[in-house]
Amino acid sequence: KVAPCIGLLSTAINMDYLVKPFQRVMPEIDLRIGRALADLGNLDQIEAAVCWHPPQGALAGLPNLRLMQSLAAGIEHMMIDSSLPREVPLCRIVDPGMAGGMKAYVAWAVSHQQRFMPAYLSSRAEQKWLEQPIVAPRKHRVGIAGLGTLGLDCATMLANIGYSVSGWSRTEKLDLPSAIKGFHGAAQLGSFLATCDTLICLLPLTNQTKGFLSAELFQQLPRGAHLINVGRGDHLVEEDLIPALDAGLLSVATLDTFSHEPLPPQHPFWADSRIVITPHIATRTEPEVIVRQTLQNLEMIKQNQVPAHQVDIKLGY
Ligand code: NDP
Repeated sequence: KVAPCIGLLSTAINMDYLVKPFQRVMPEIDLRIGRALADLGNLDQIEAAVCWHPPQGALAGLPNLRLMQSLAAGIEHMMIDSSLPREVPLCRIVDPGMAGGMKAYVAWAVSHQQRFMPAYLSSRAEQKWLEQPIVAPRKHRVGIAGLGTLGLDCATMLANIGYSVSGWSRTEKLDLPSAIKGFHGAAQLGSFLATCDTLICLLPLTNQTKGFLSAELFQQLPRGAHLINVGRGDHLVEEDLIPALDAGLLSVATLDTFSHEPLPPQHPFWADSRIVITPHIATRTEPEVIVRQTLQNLEMIKQNQVPAHQVDIKLGY
């Protein structure tokens, strides 16, 4: 059997970190690393492309491409290429390890504010023993926008802690655990938002969800809500955030993703202590998982099977 030829394509990161994990599984594999098509050698040979912000137009320039594999849960970094070959299956990573990291981050982000940890950190710095109110989790309503692989896992975890949890999705969910109240579609968005003392964005970034976290949305939350964005930076209309904090619509925001990453040094979010900033670290997929899912998907396609975690290019997720 001839070893596959796989392109590792990114204009944003160095893809070298995937070489050894690929070679450990398949020493004879033919890997081509590139920021541009010109880096990839004979393009006819490339059967699969593993991508993070691939160069514009590159995937359409690979005549024998059989698999486009995102190395992340999201695919928006590939969908911005208008020449994407839509007949080639596009797959994303779905990984219990990634879900575990997201649950840990979300549990921290919610409880850090709900249990007044910033106040305890200040008290600690002043060597003061000072109790804050102890509010039972069931009295705190957490809403998750996006009830997919990660959103549903986080909702279940938060409900297990005892938070009052609701979720919002595009389509109706008929099989949600009884502890999670489901809402769906534009018509139920207002009712959902009214239940969110903490709102967590775990949507994919699509034409429909870009700018979802806006001034208009903040008006519909309970006053003083906590916003957590672990989706993508462009879900948030960044210029609407500080005015919403100033107006008391939000009390605090925990942001892991930003329109421009790294967040530029002069960005106003850095100077605002009401905004907790983490550098897109909510979770990550281990290279071994990317390697395994890519090789398995390519093999399935060669056997005329549907690959795992193929996205609907028309829906954009
Ligand atoms: P899924 O595709 O499994 O789930 C997406 C969810 O969003 C679904 O419930 C879907 O509804 C819902 N949705 C999509 N479009 C709309 C819409 N227009 N209106 C309402 N609901 C909508 O994605 P994952 O759970 O795997 O991942 C979600 C996102 O999390 C990723 O796309 C990525 O942006 C982000 N992420 C961030 C990371 C980080 O480190 N910060 C790491 C990993 C992921 P339905 O169920 O009806 O289809």
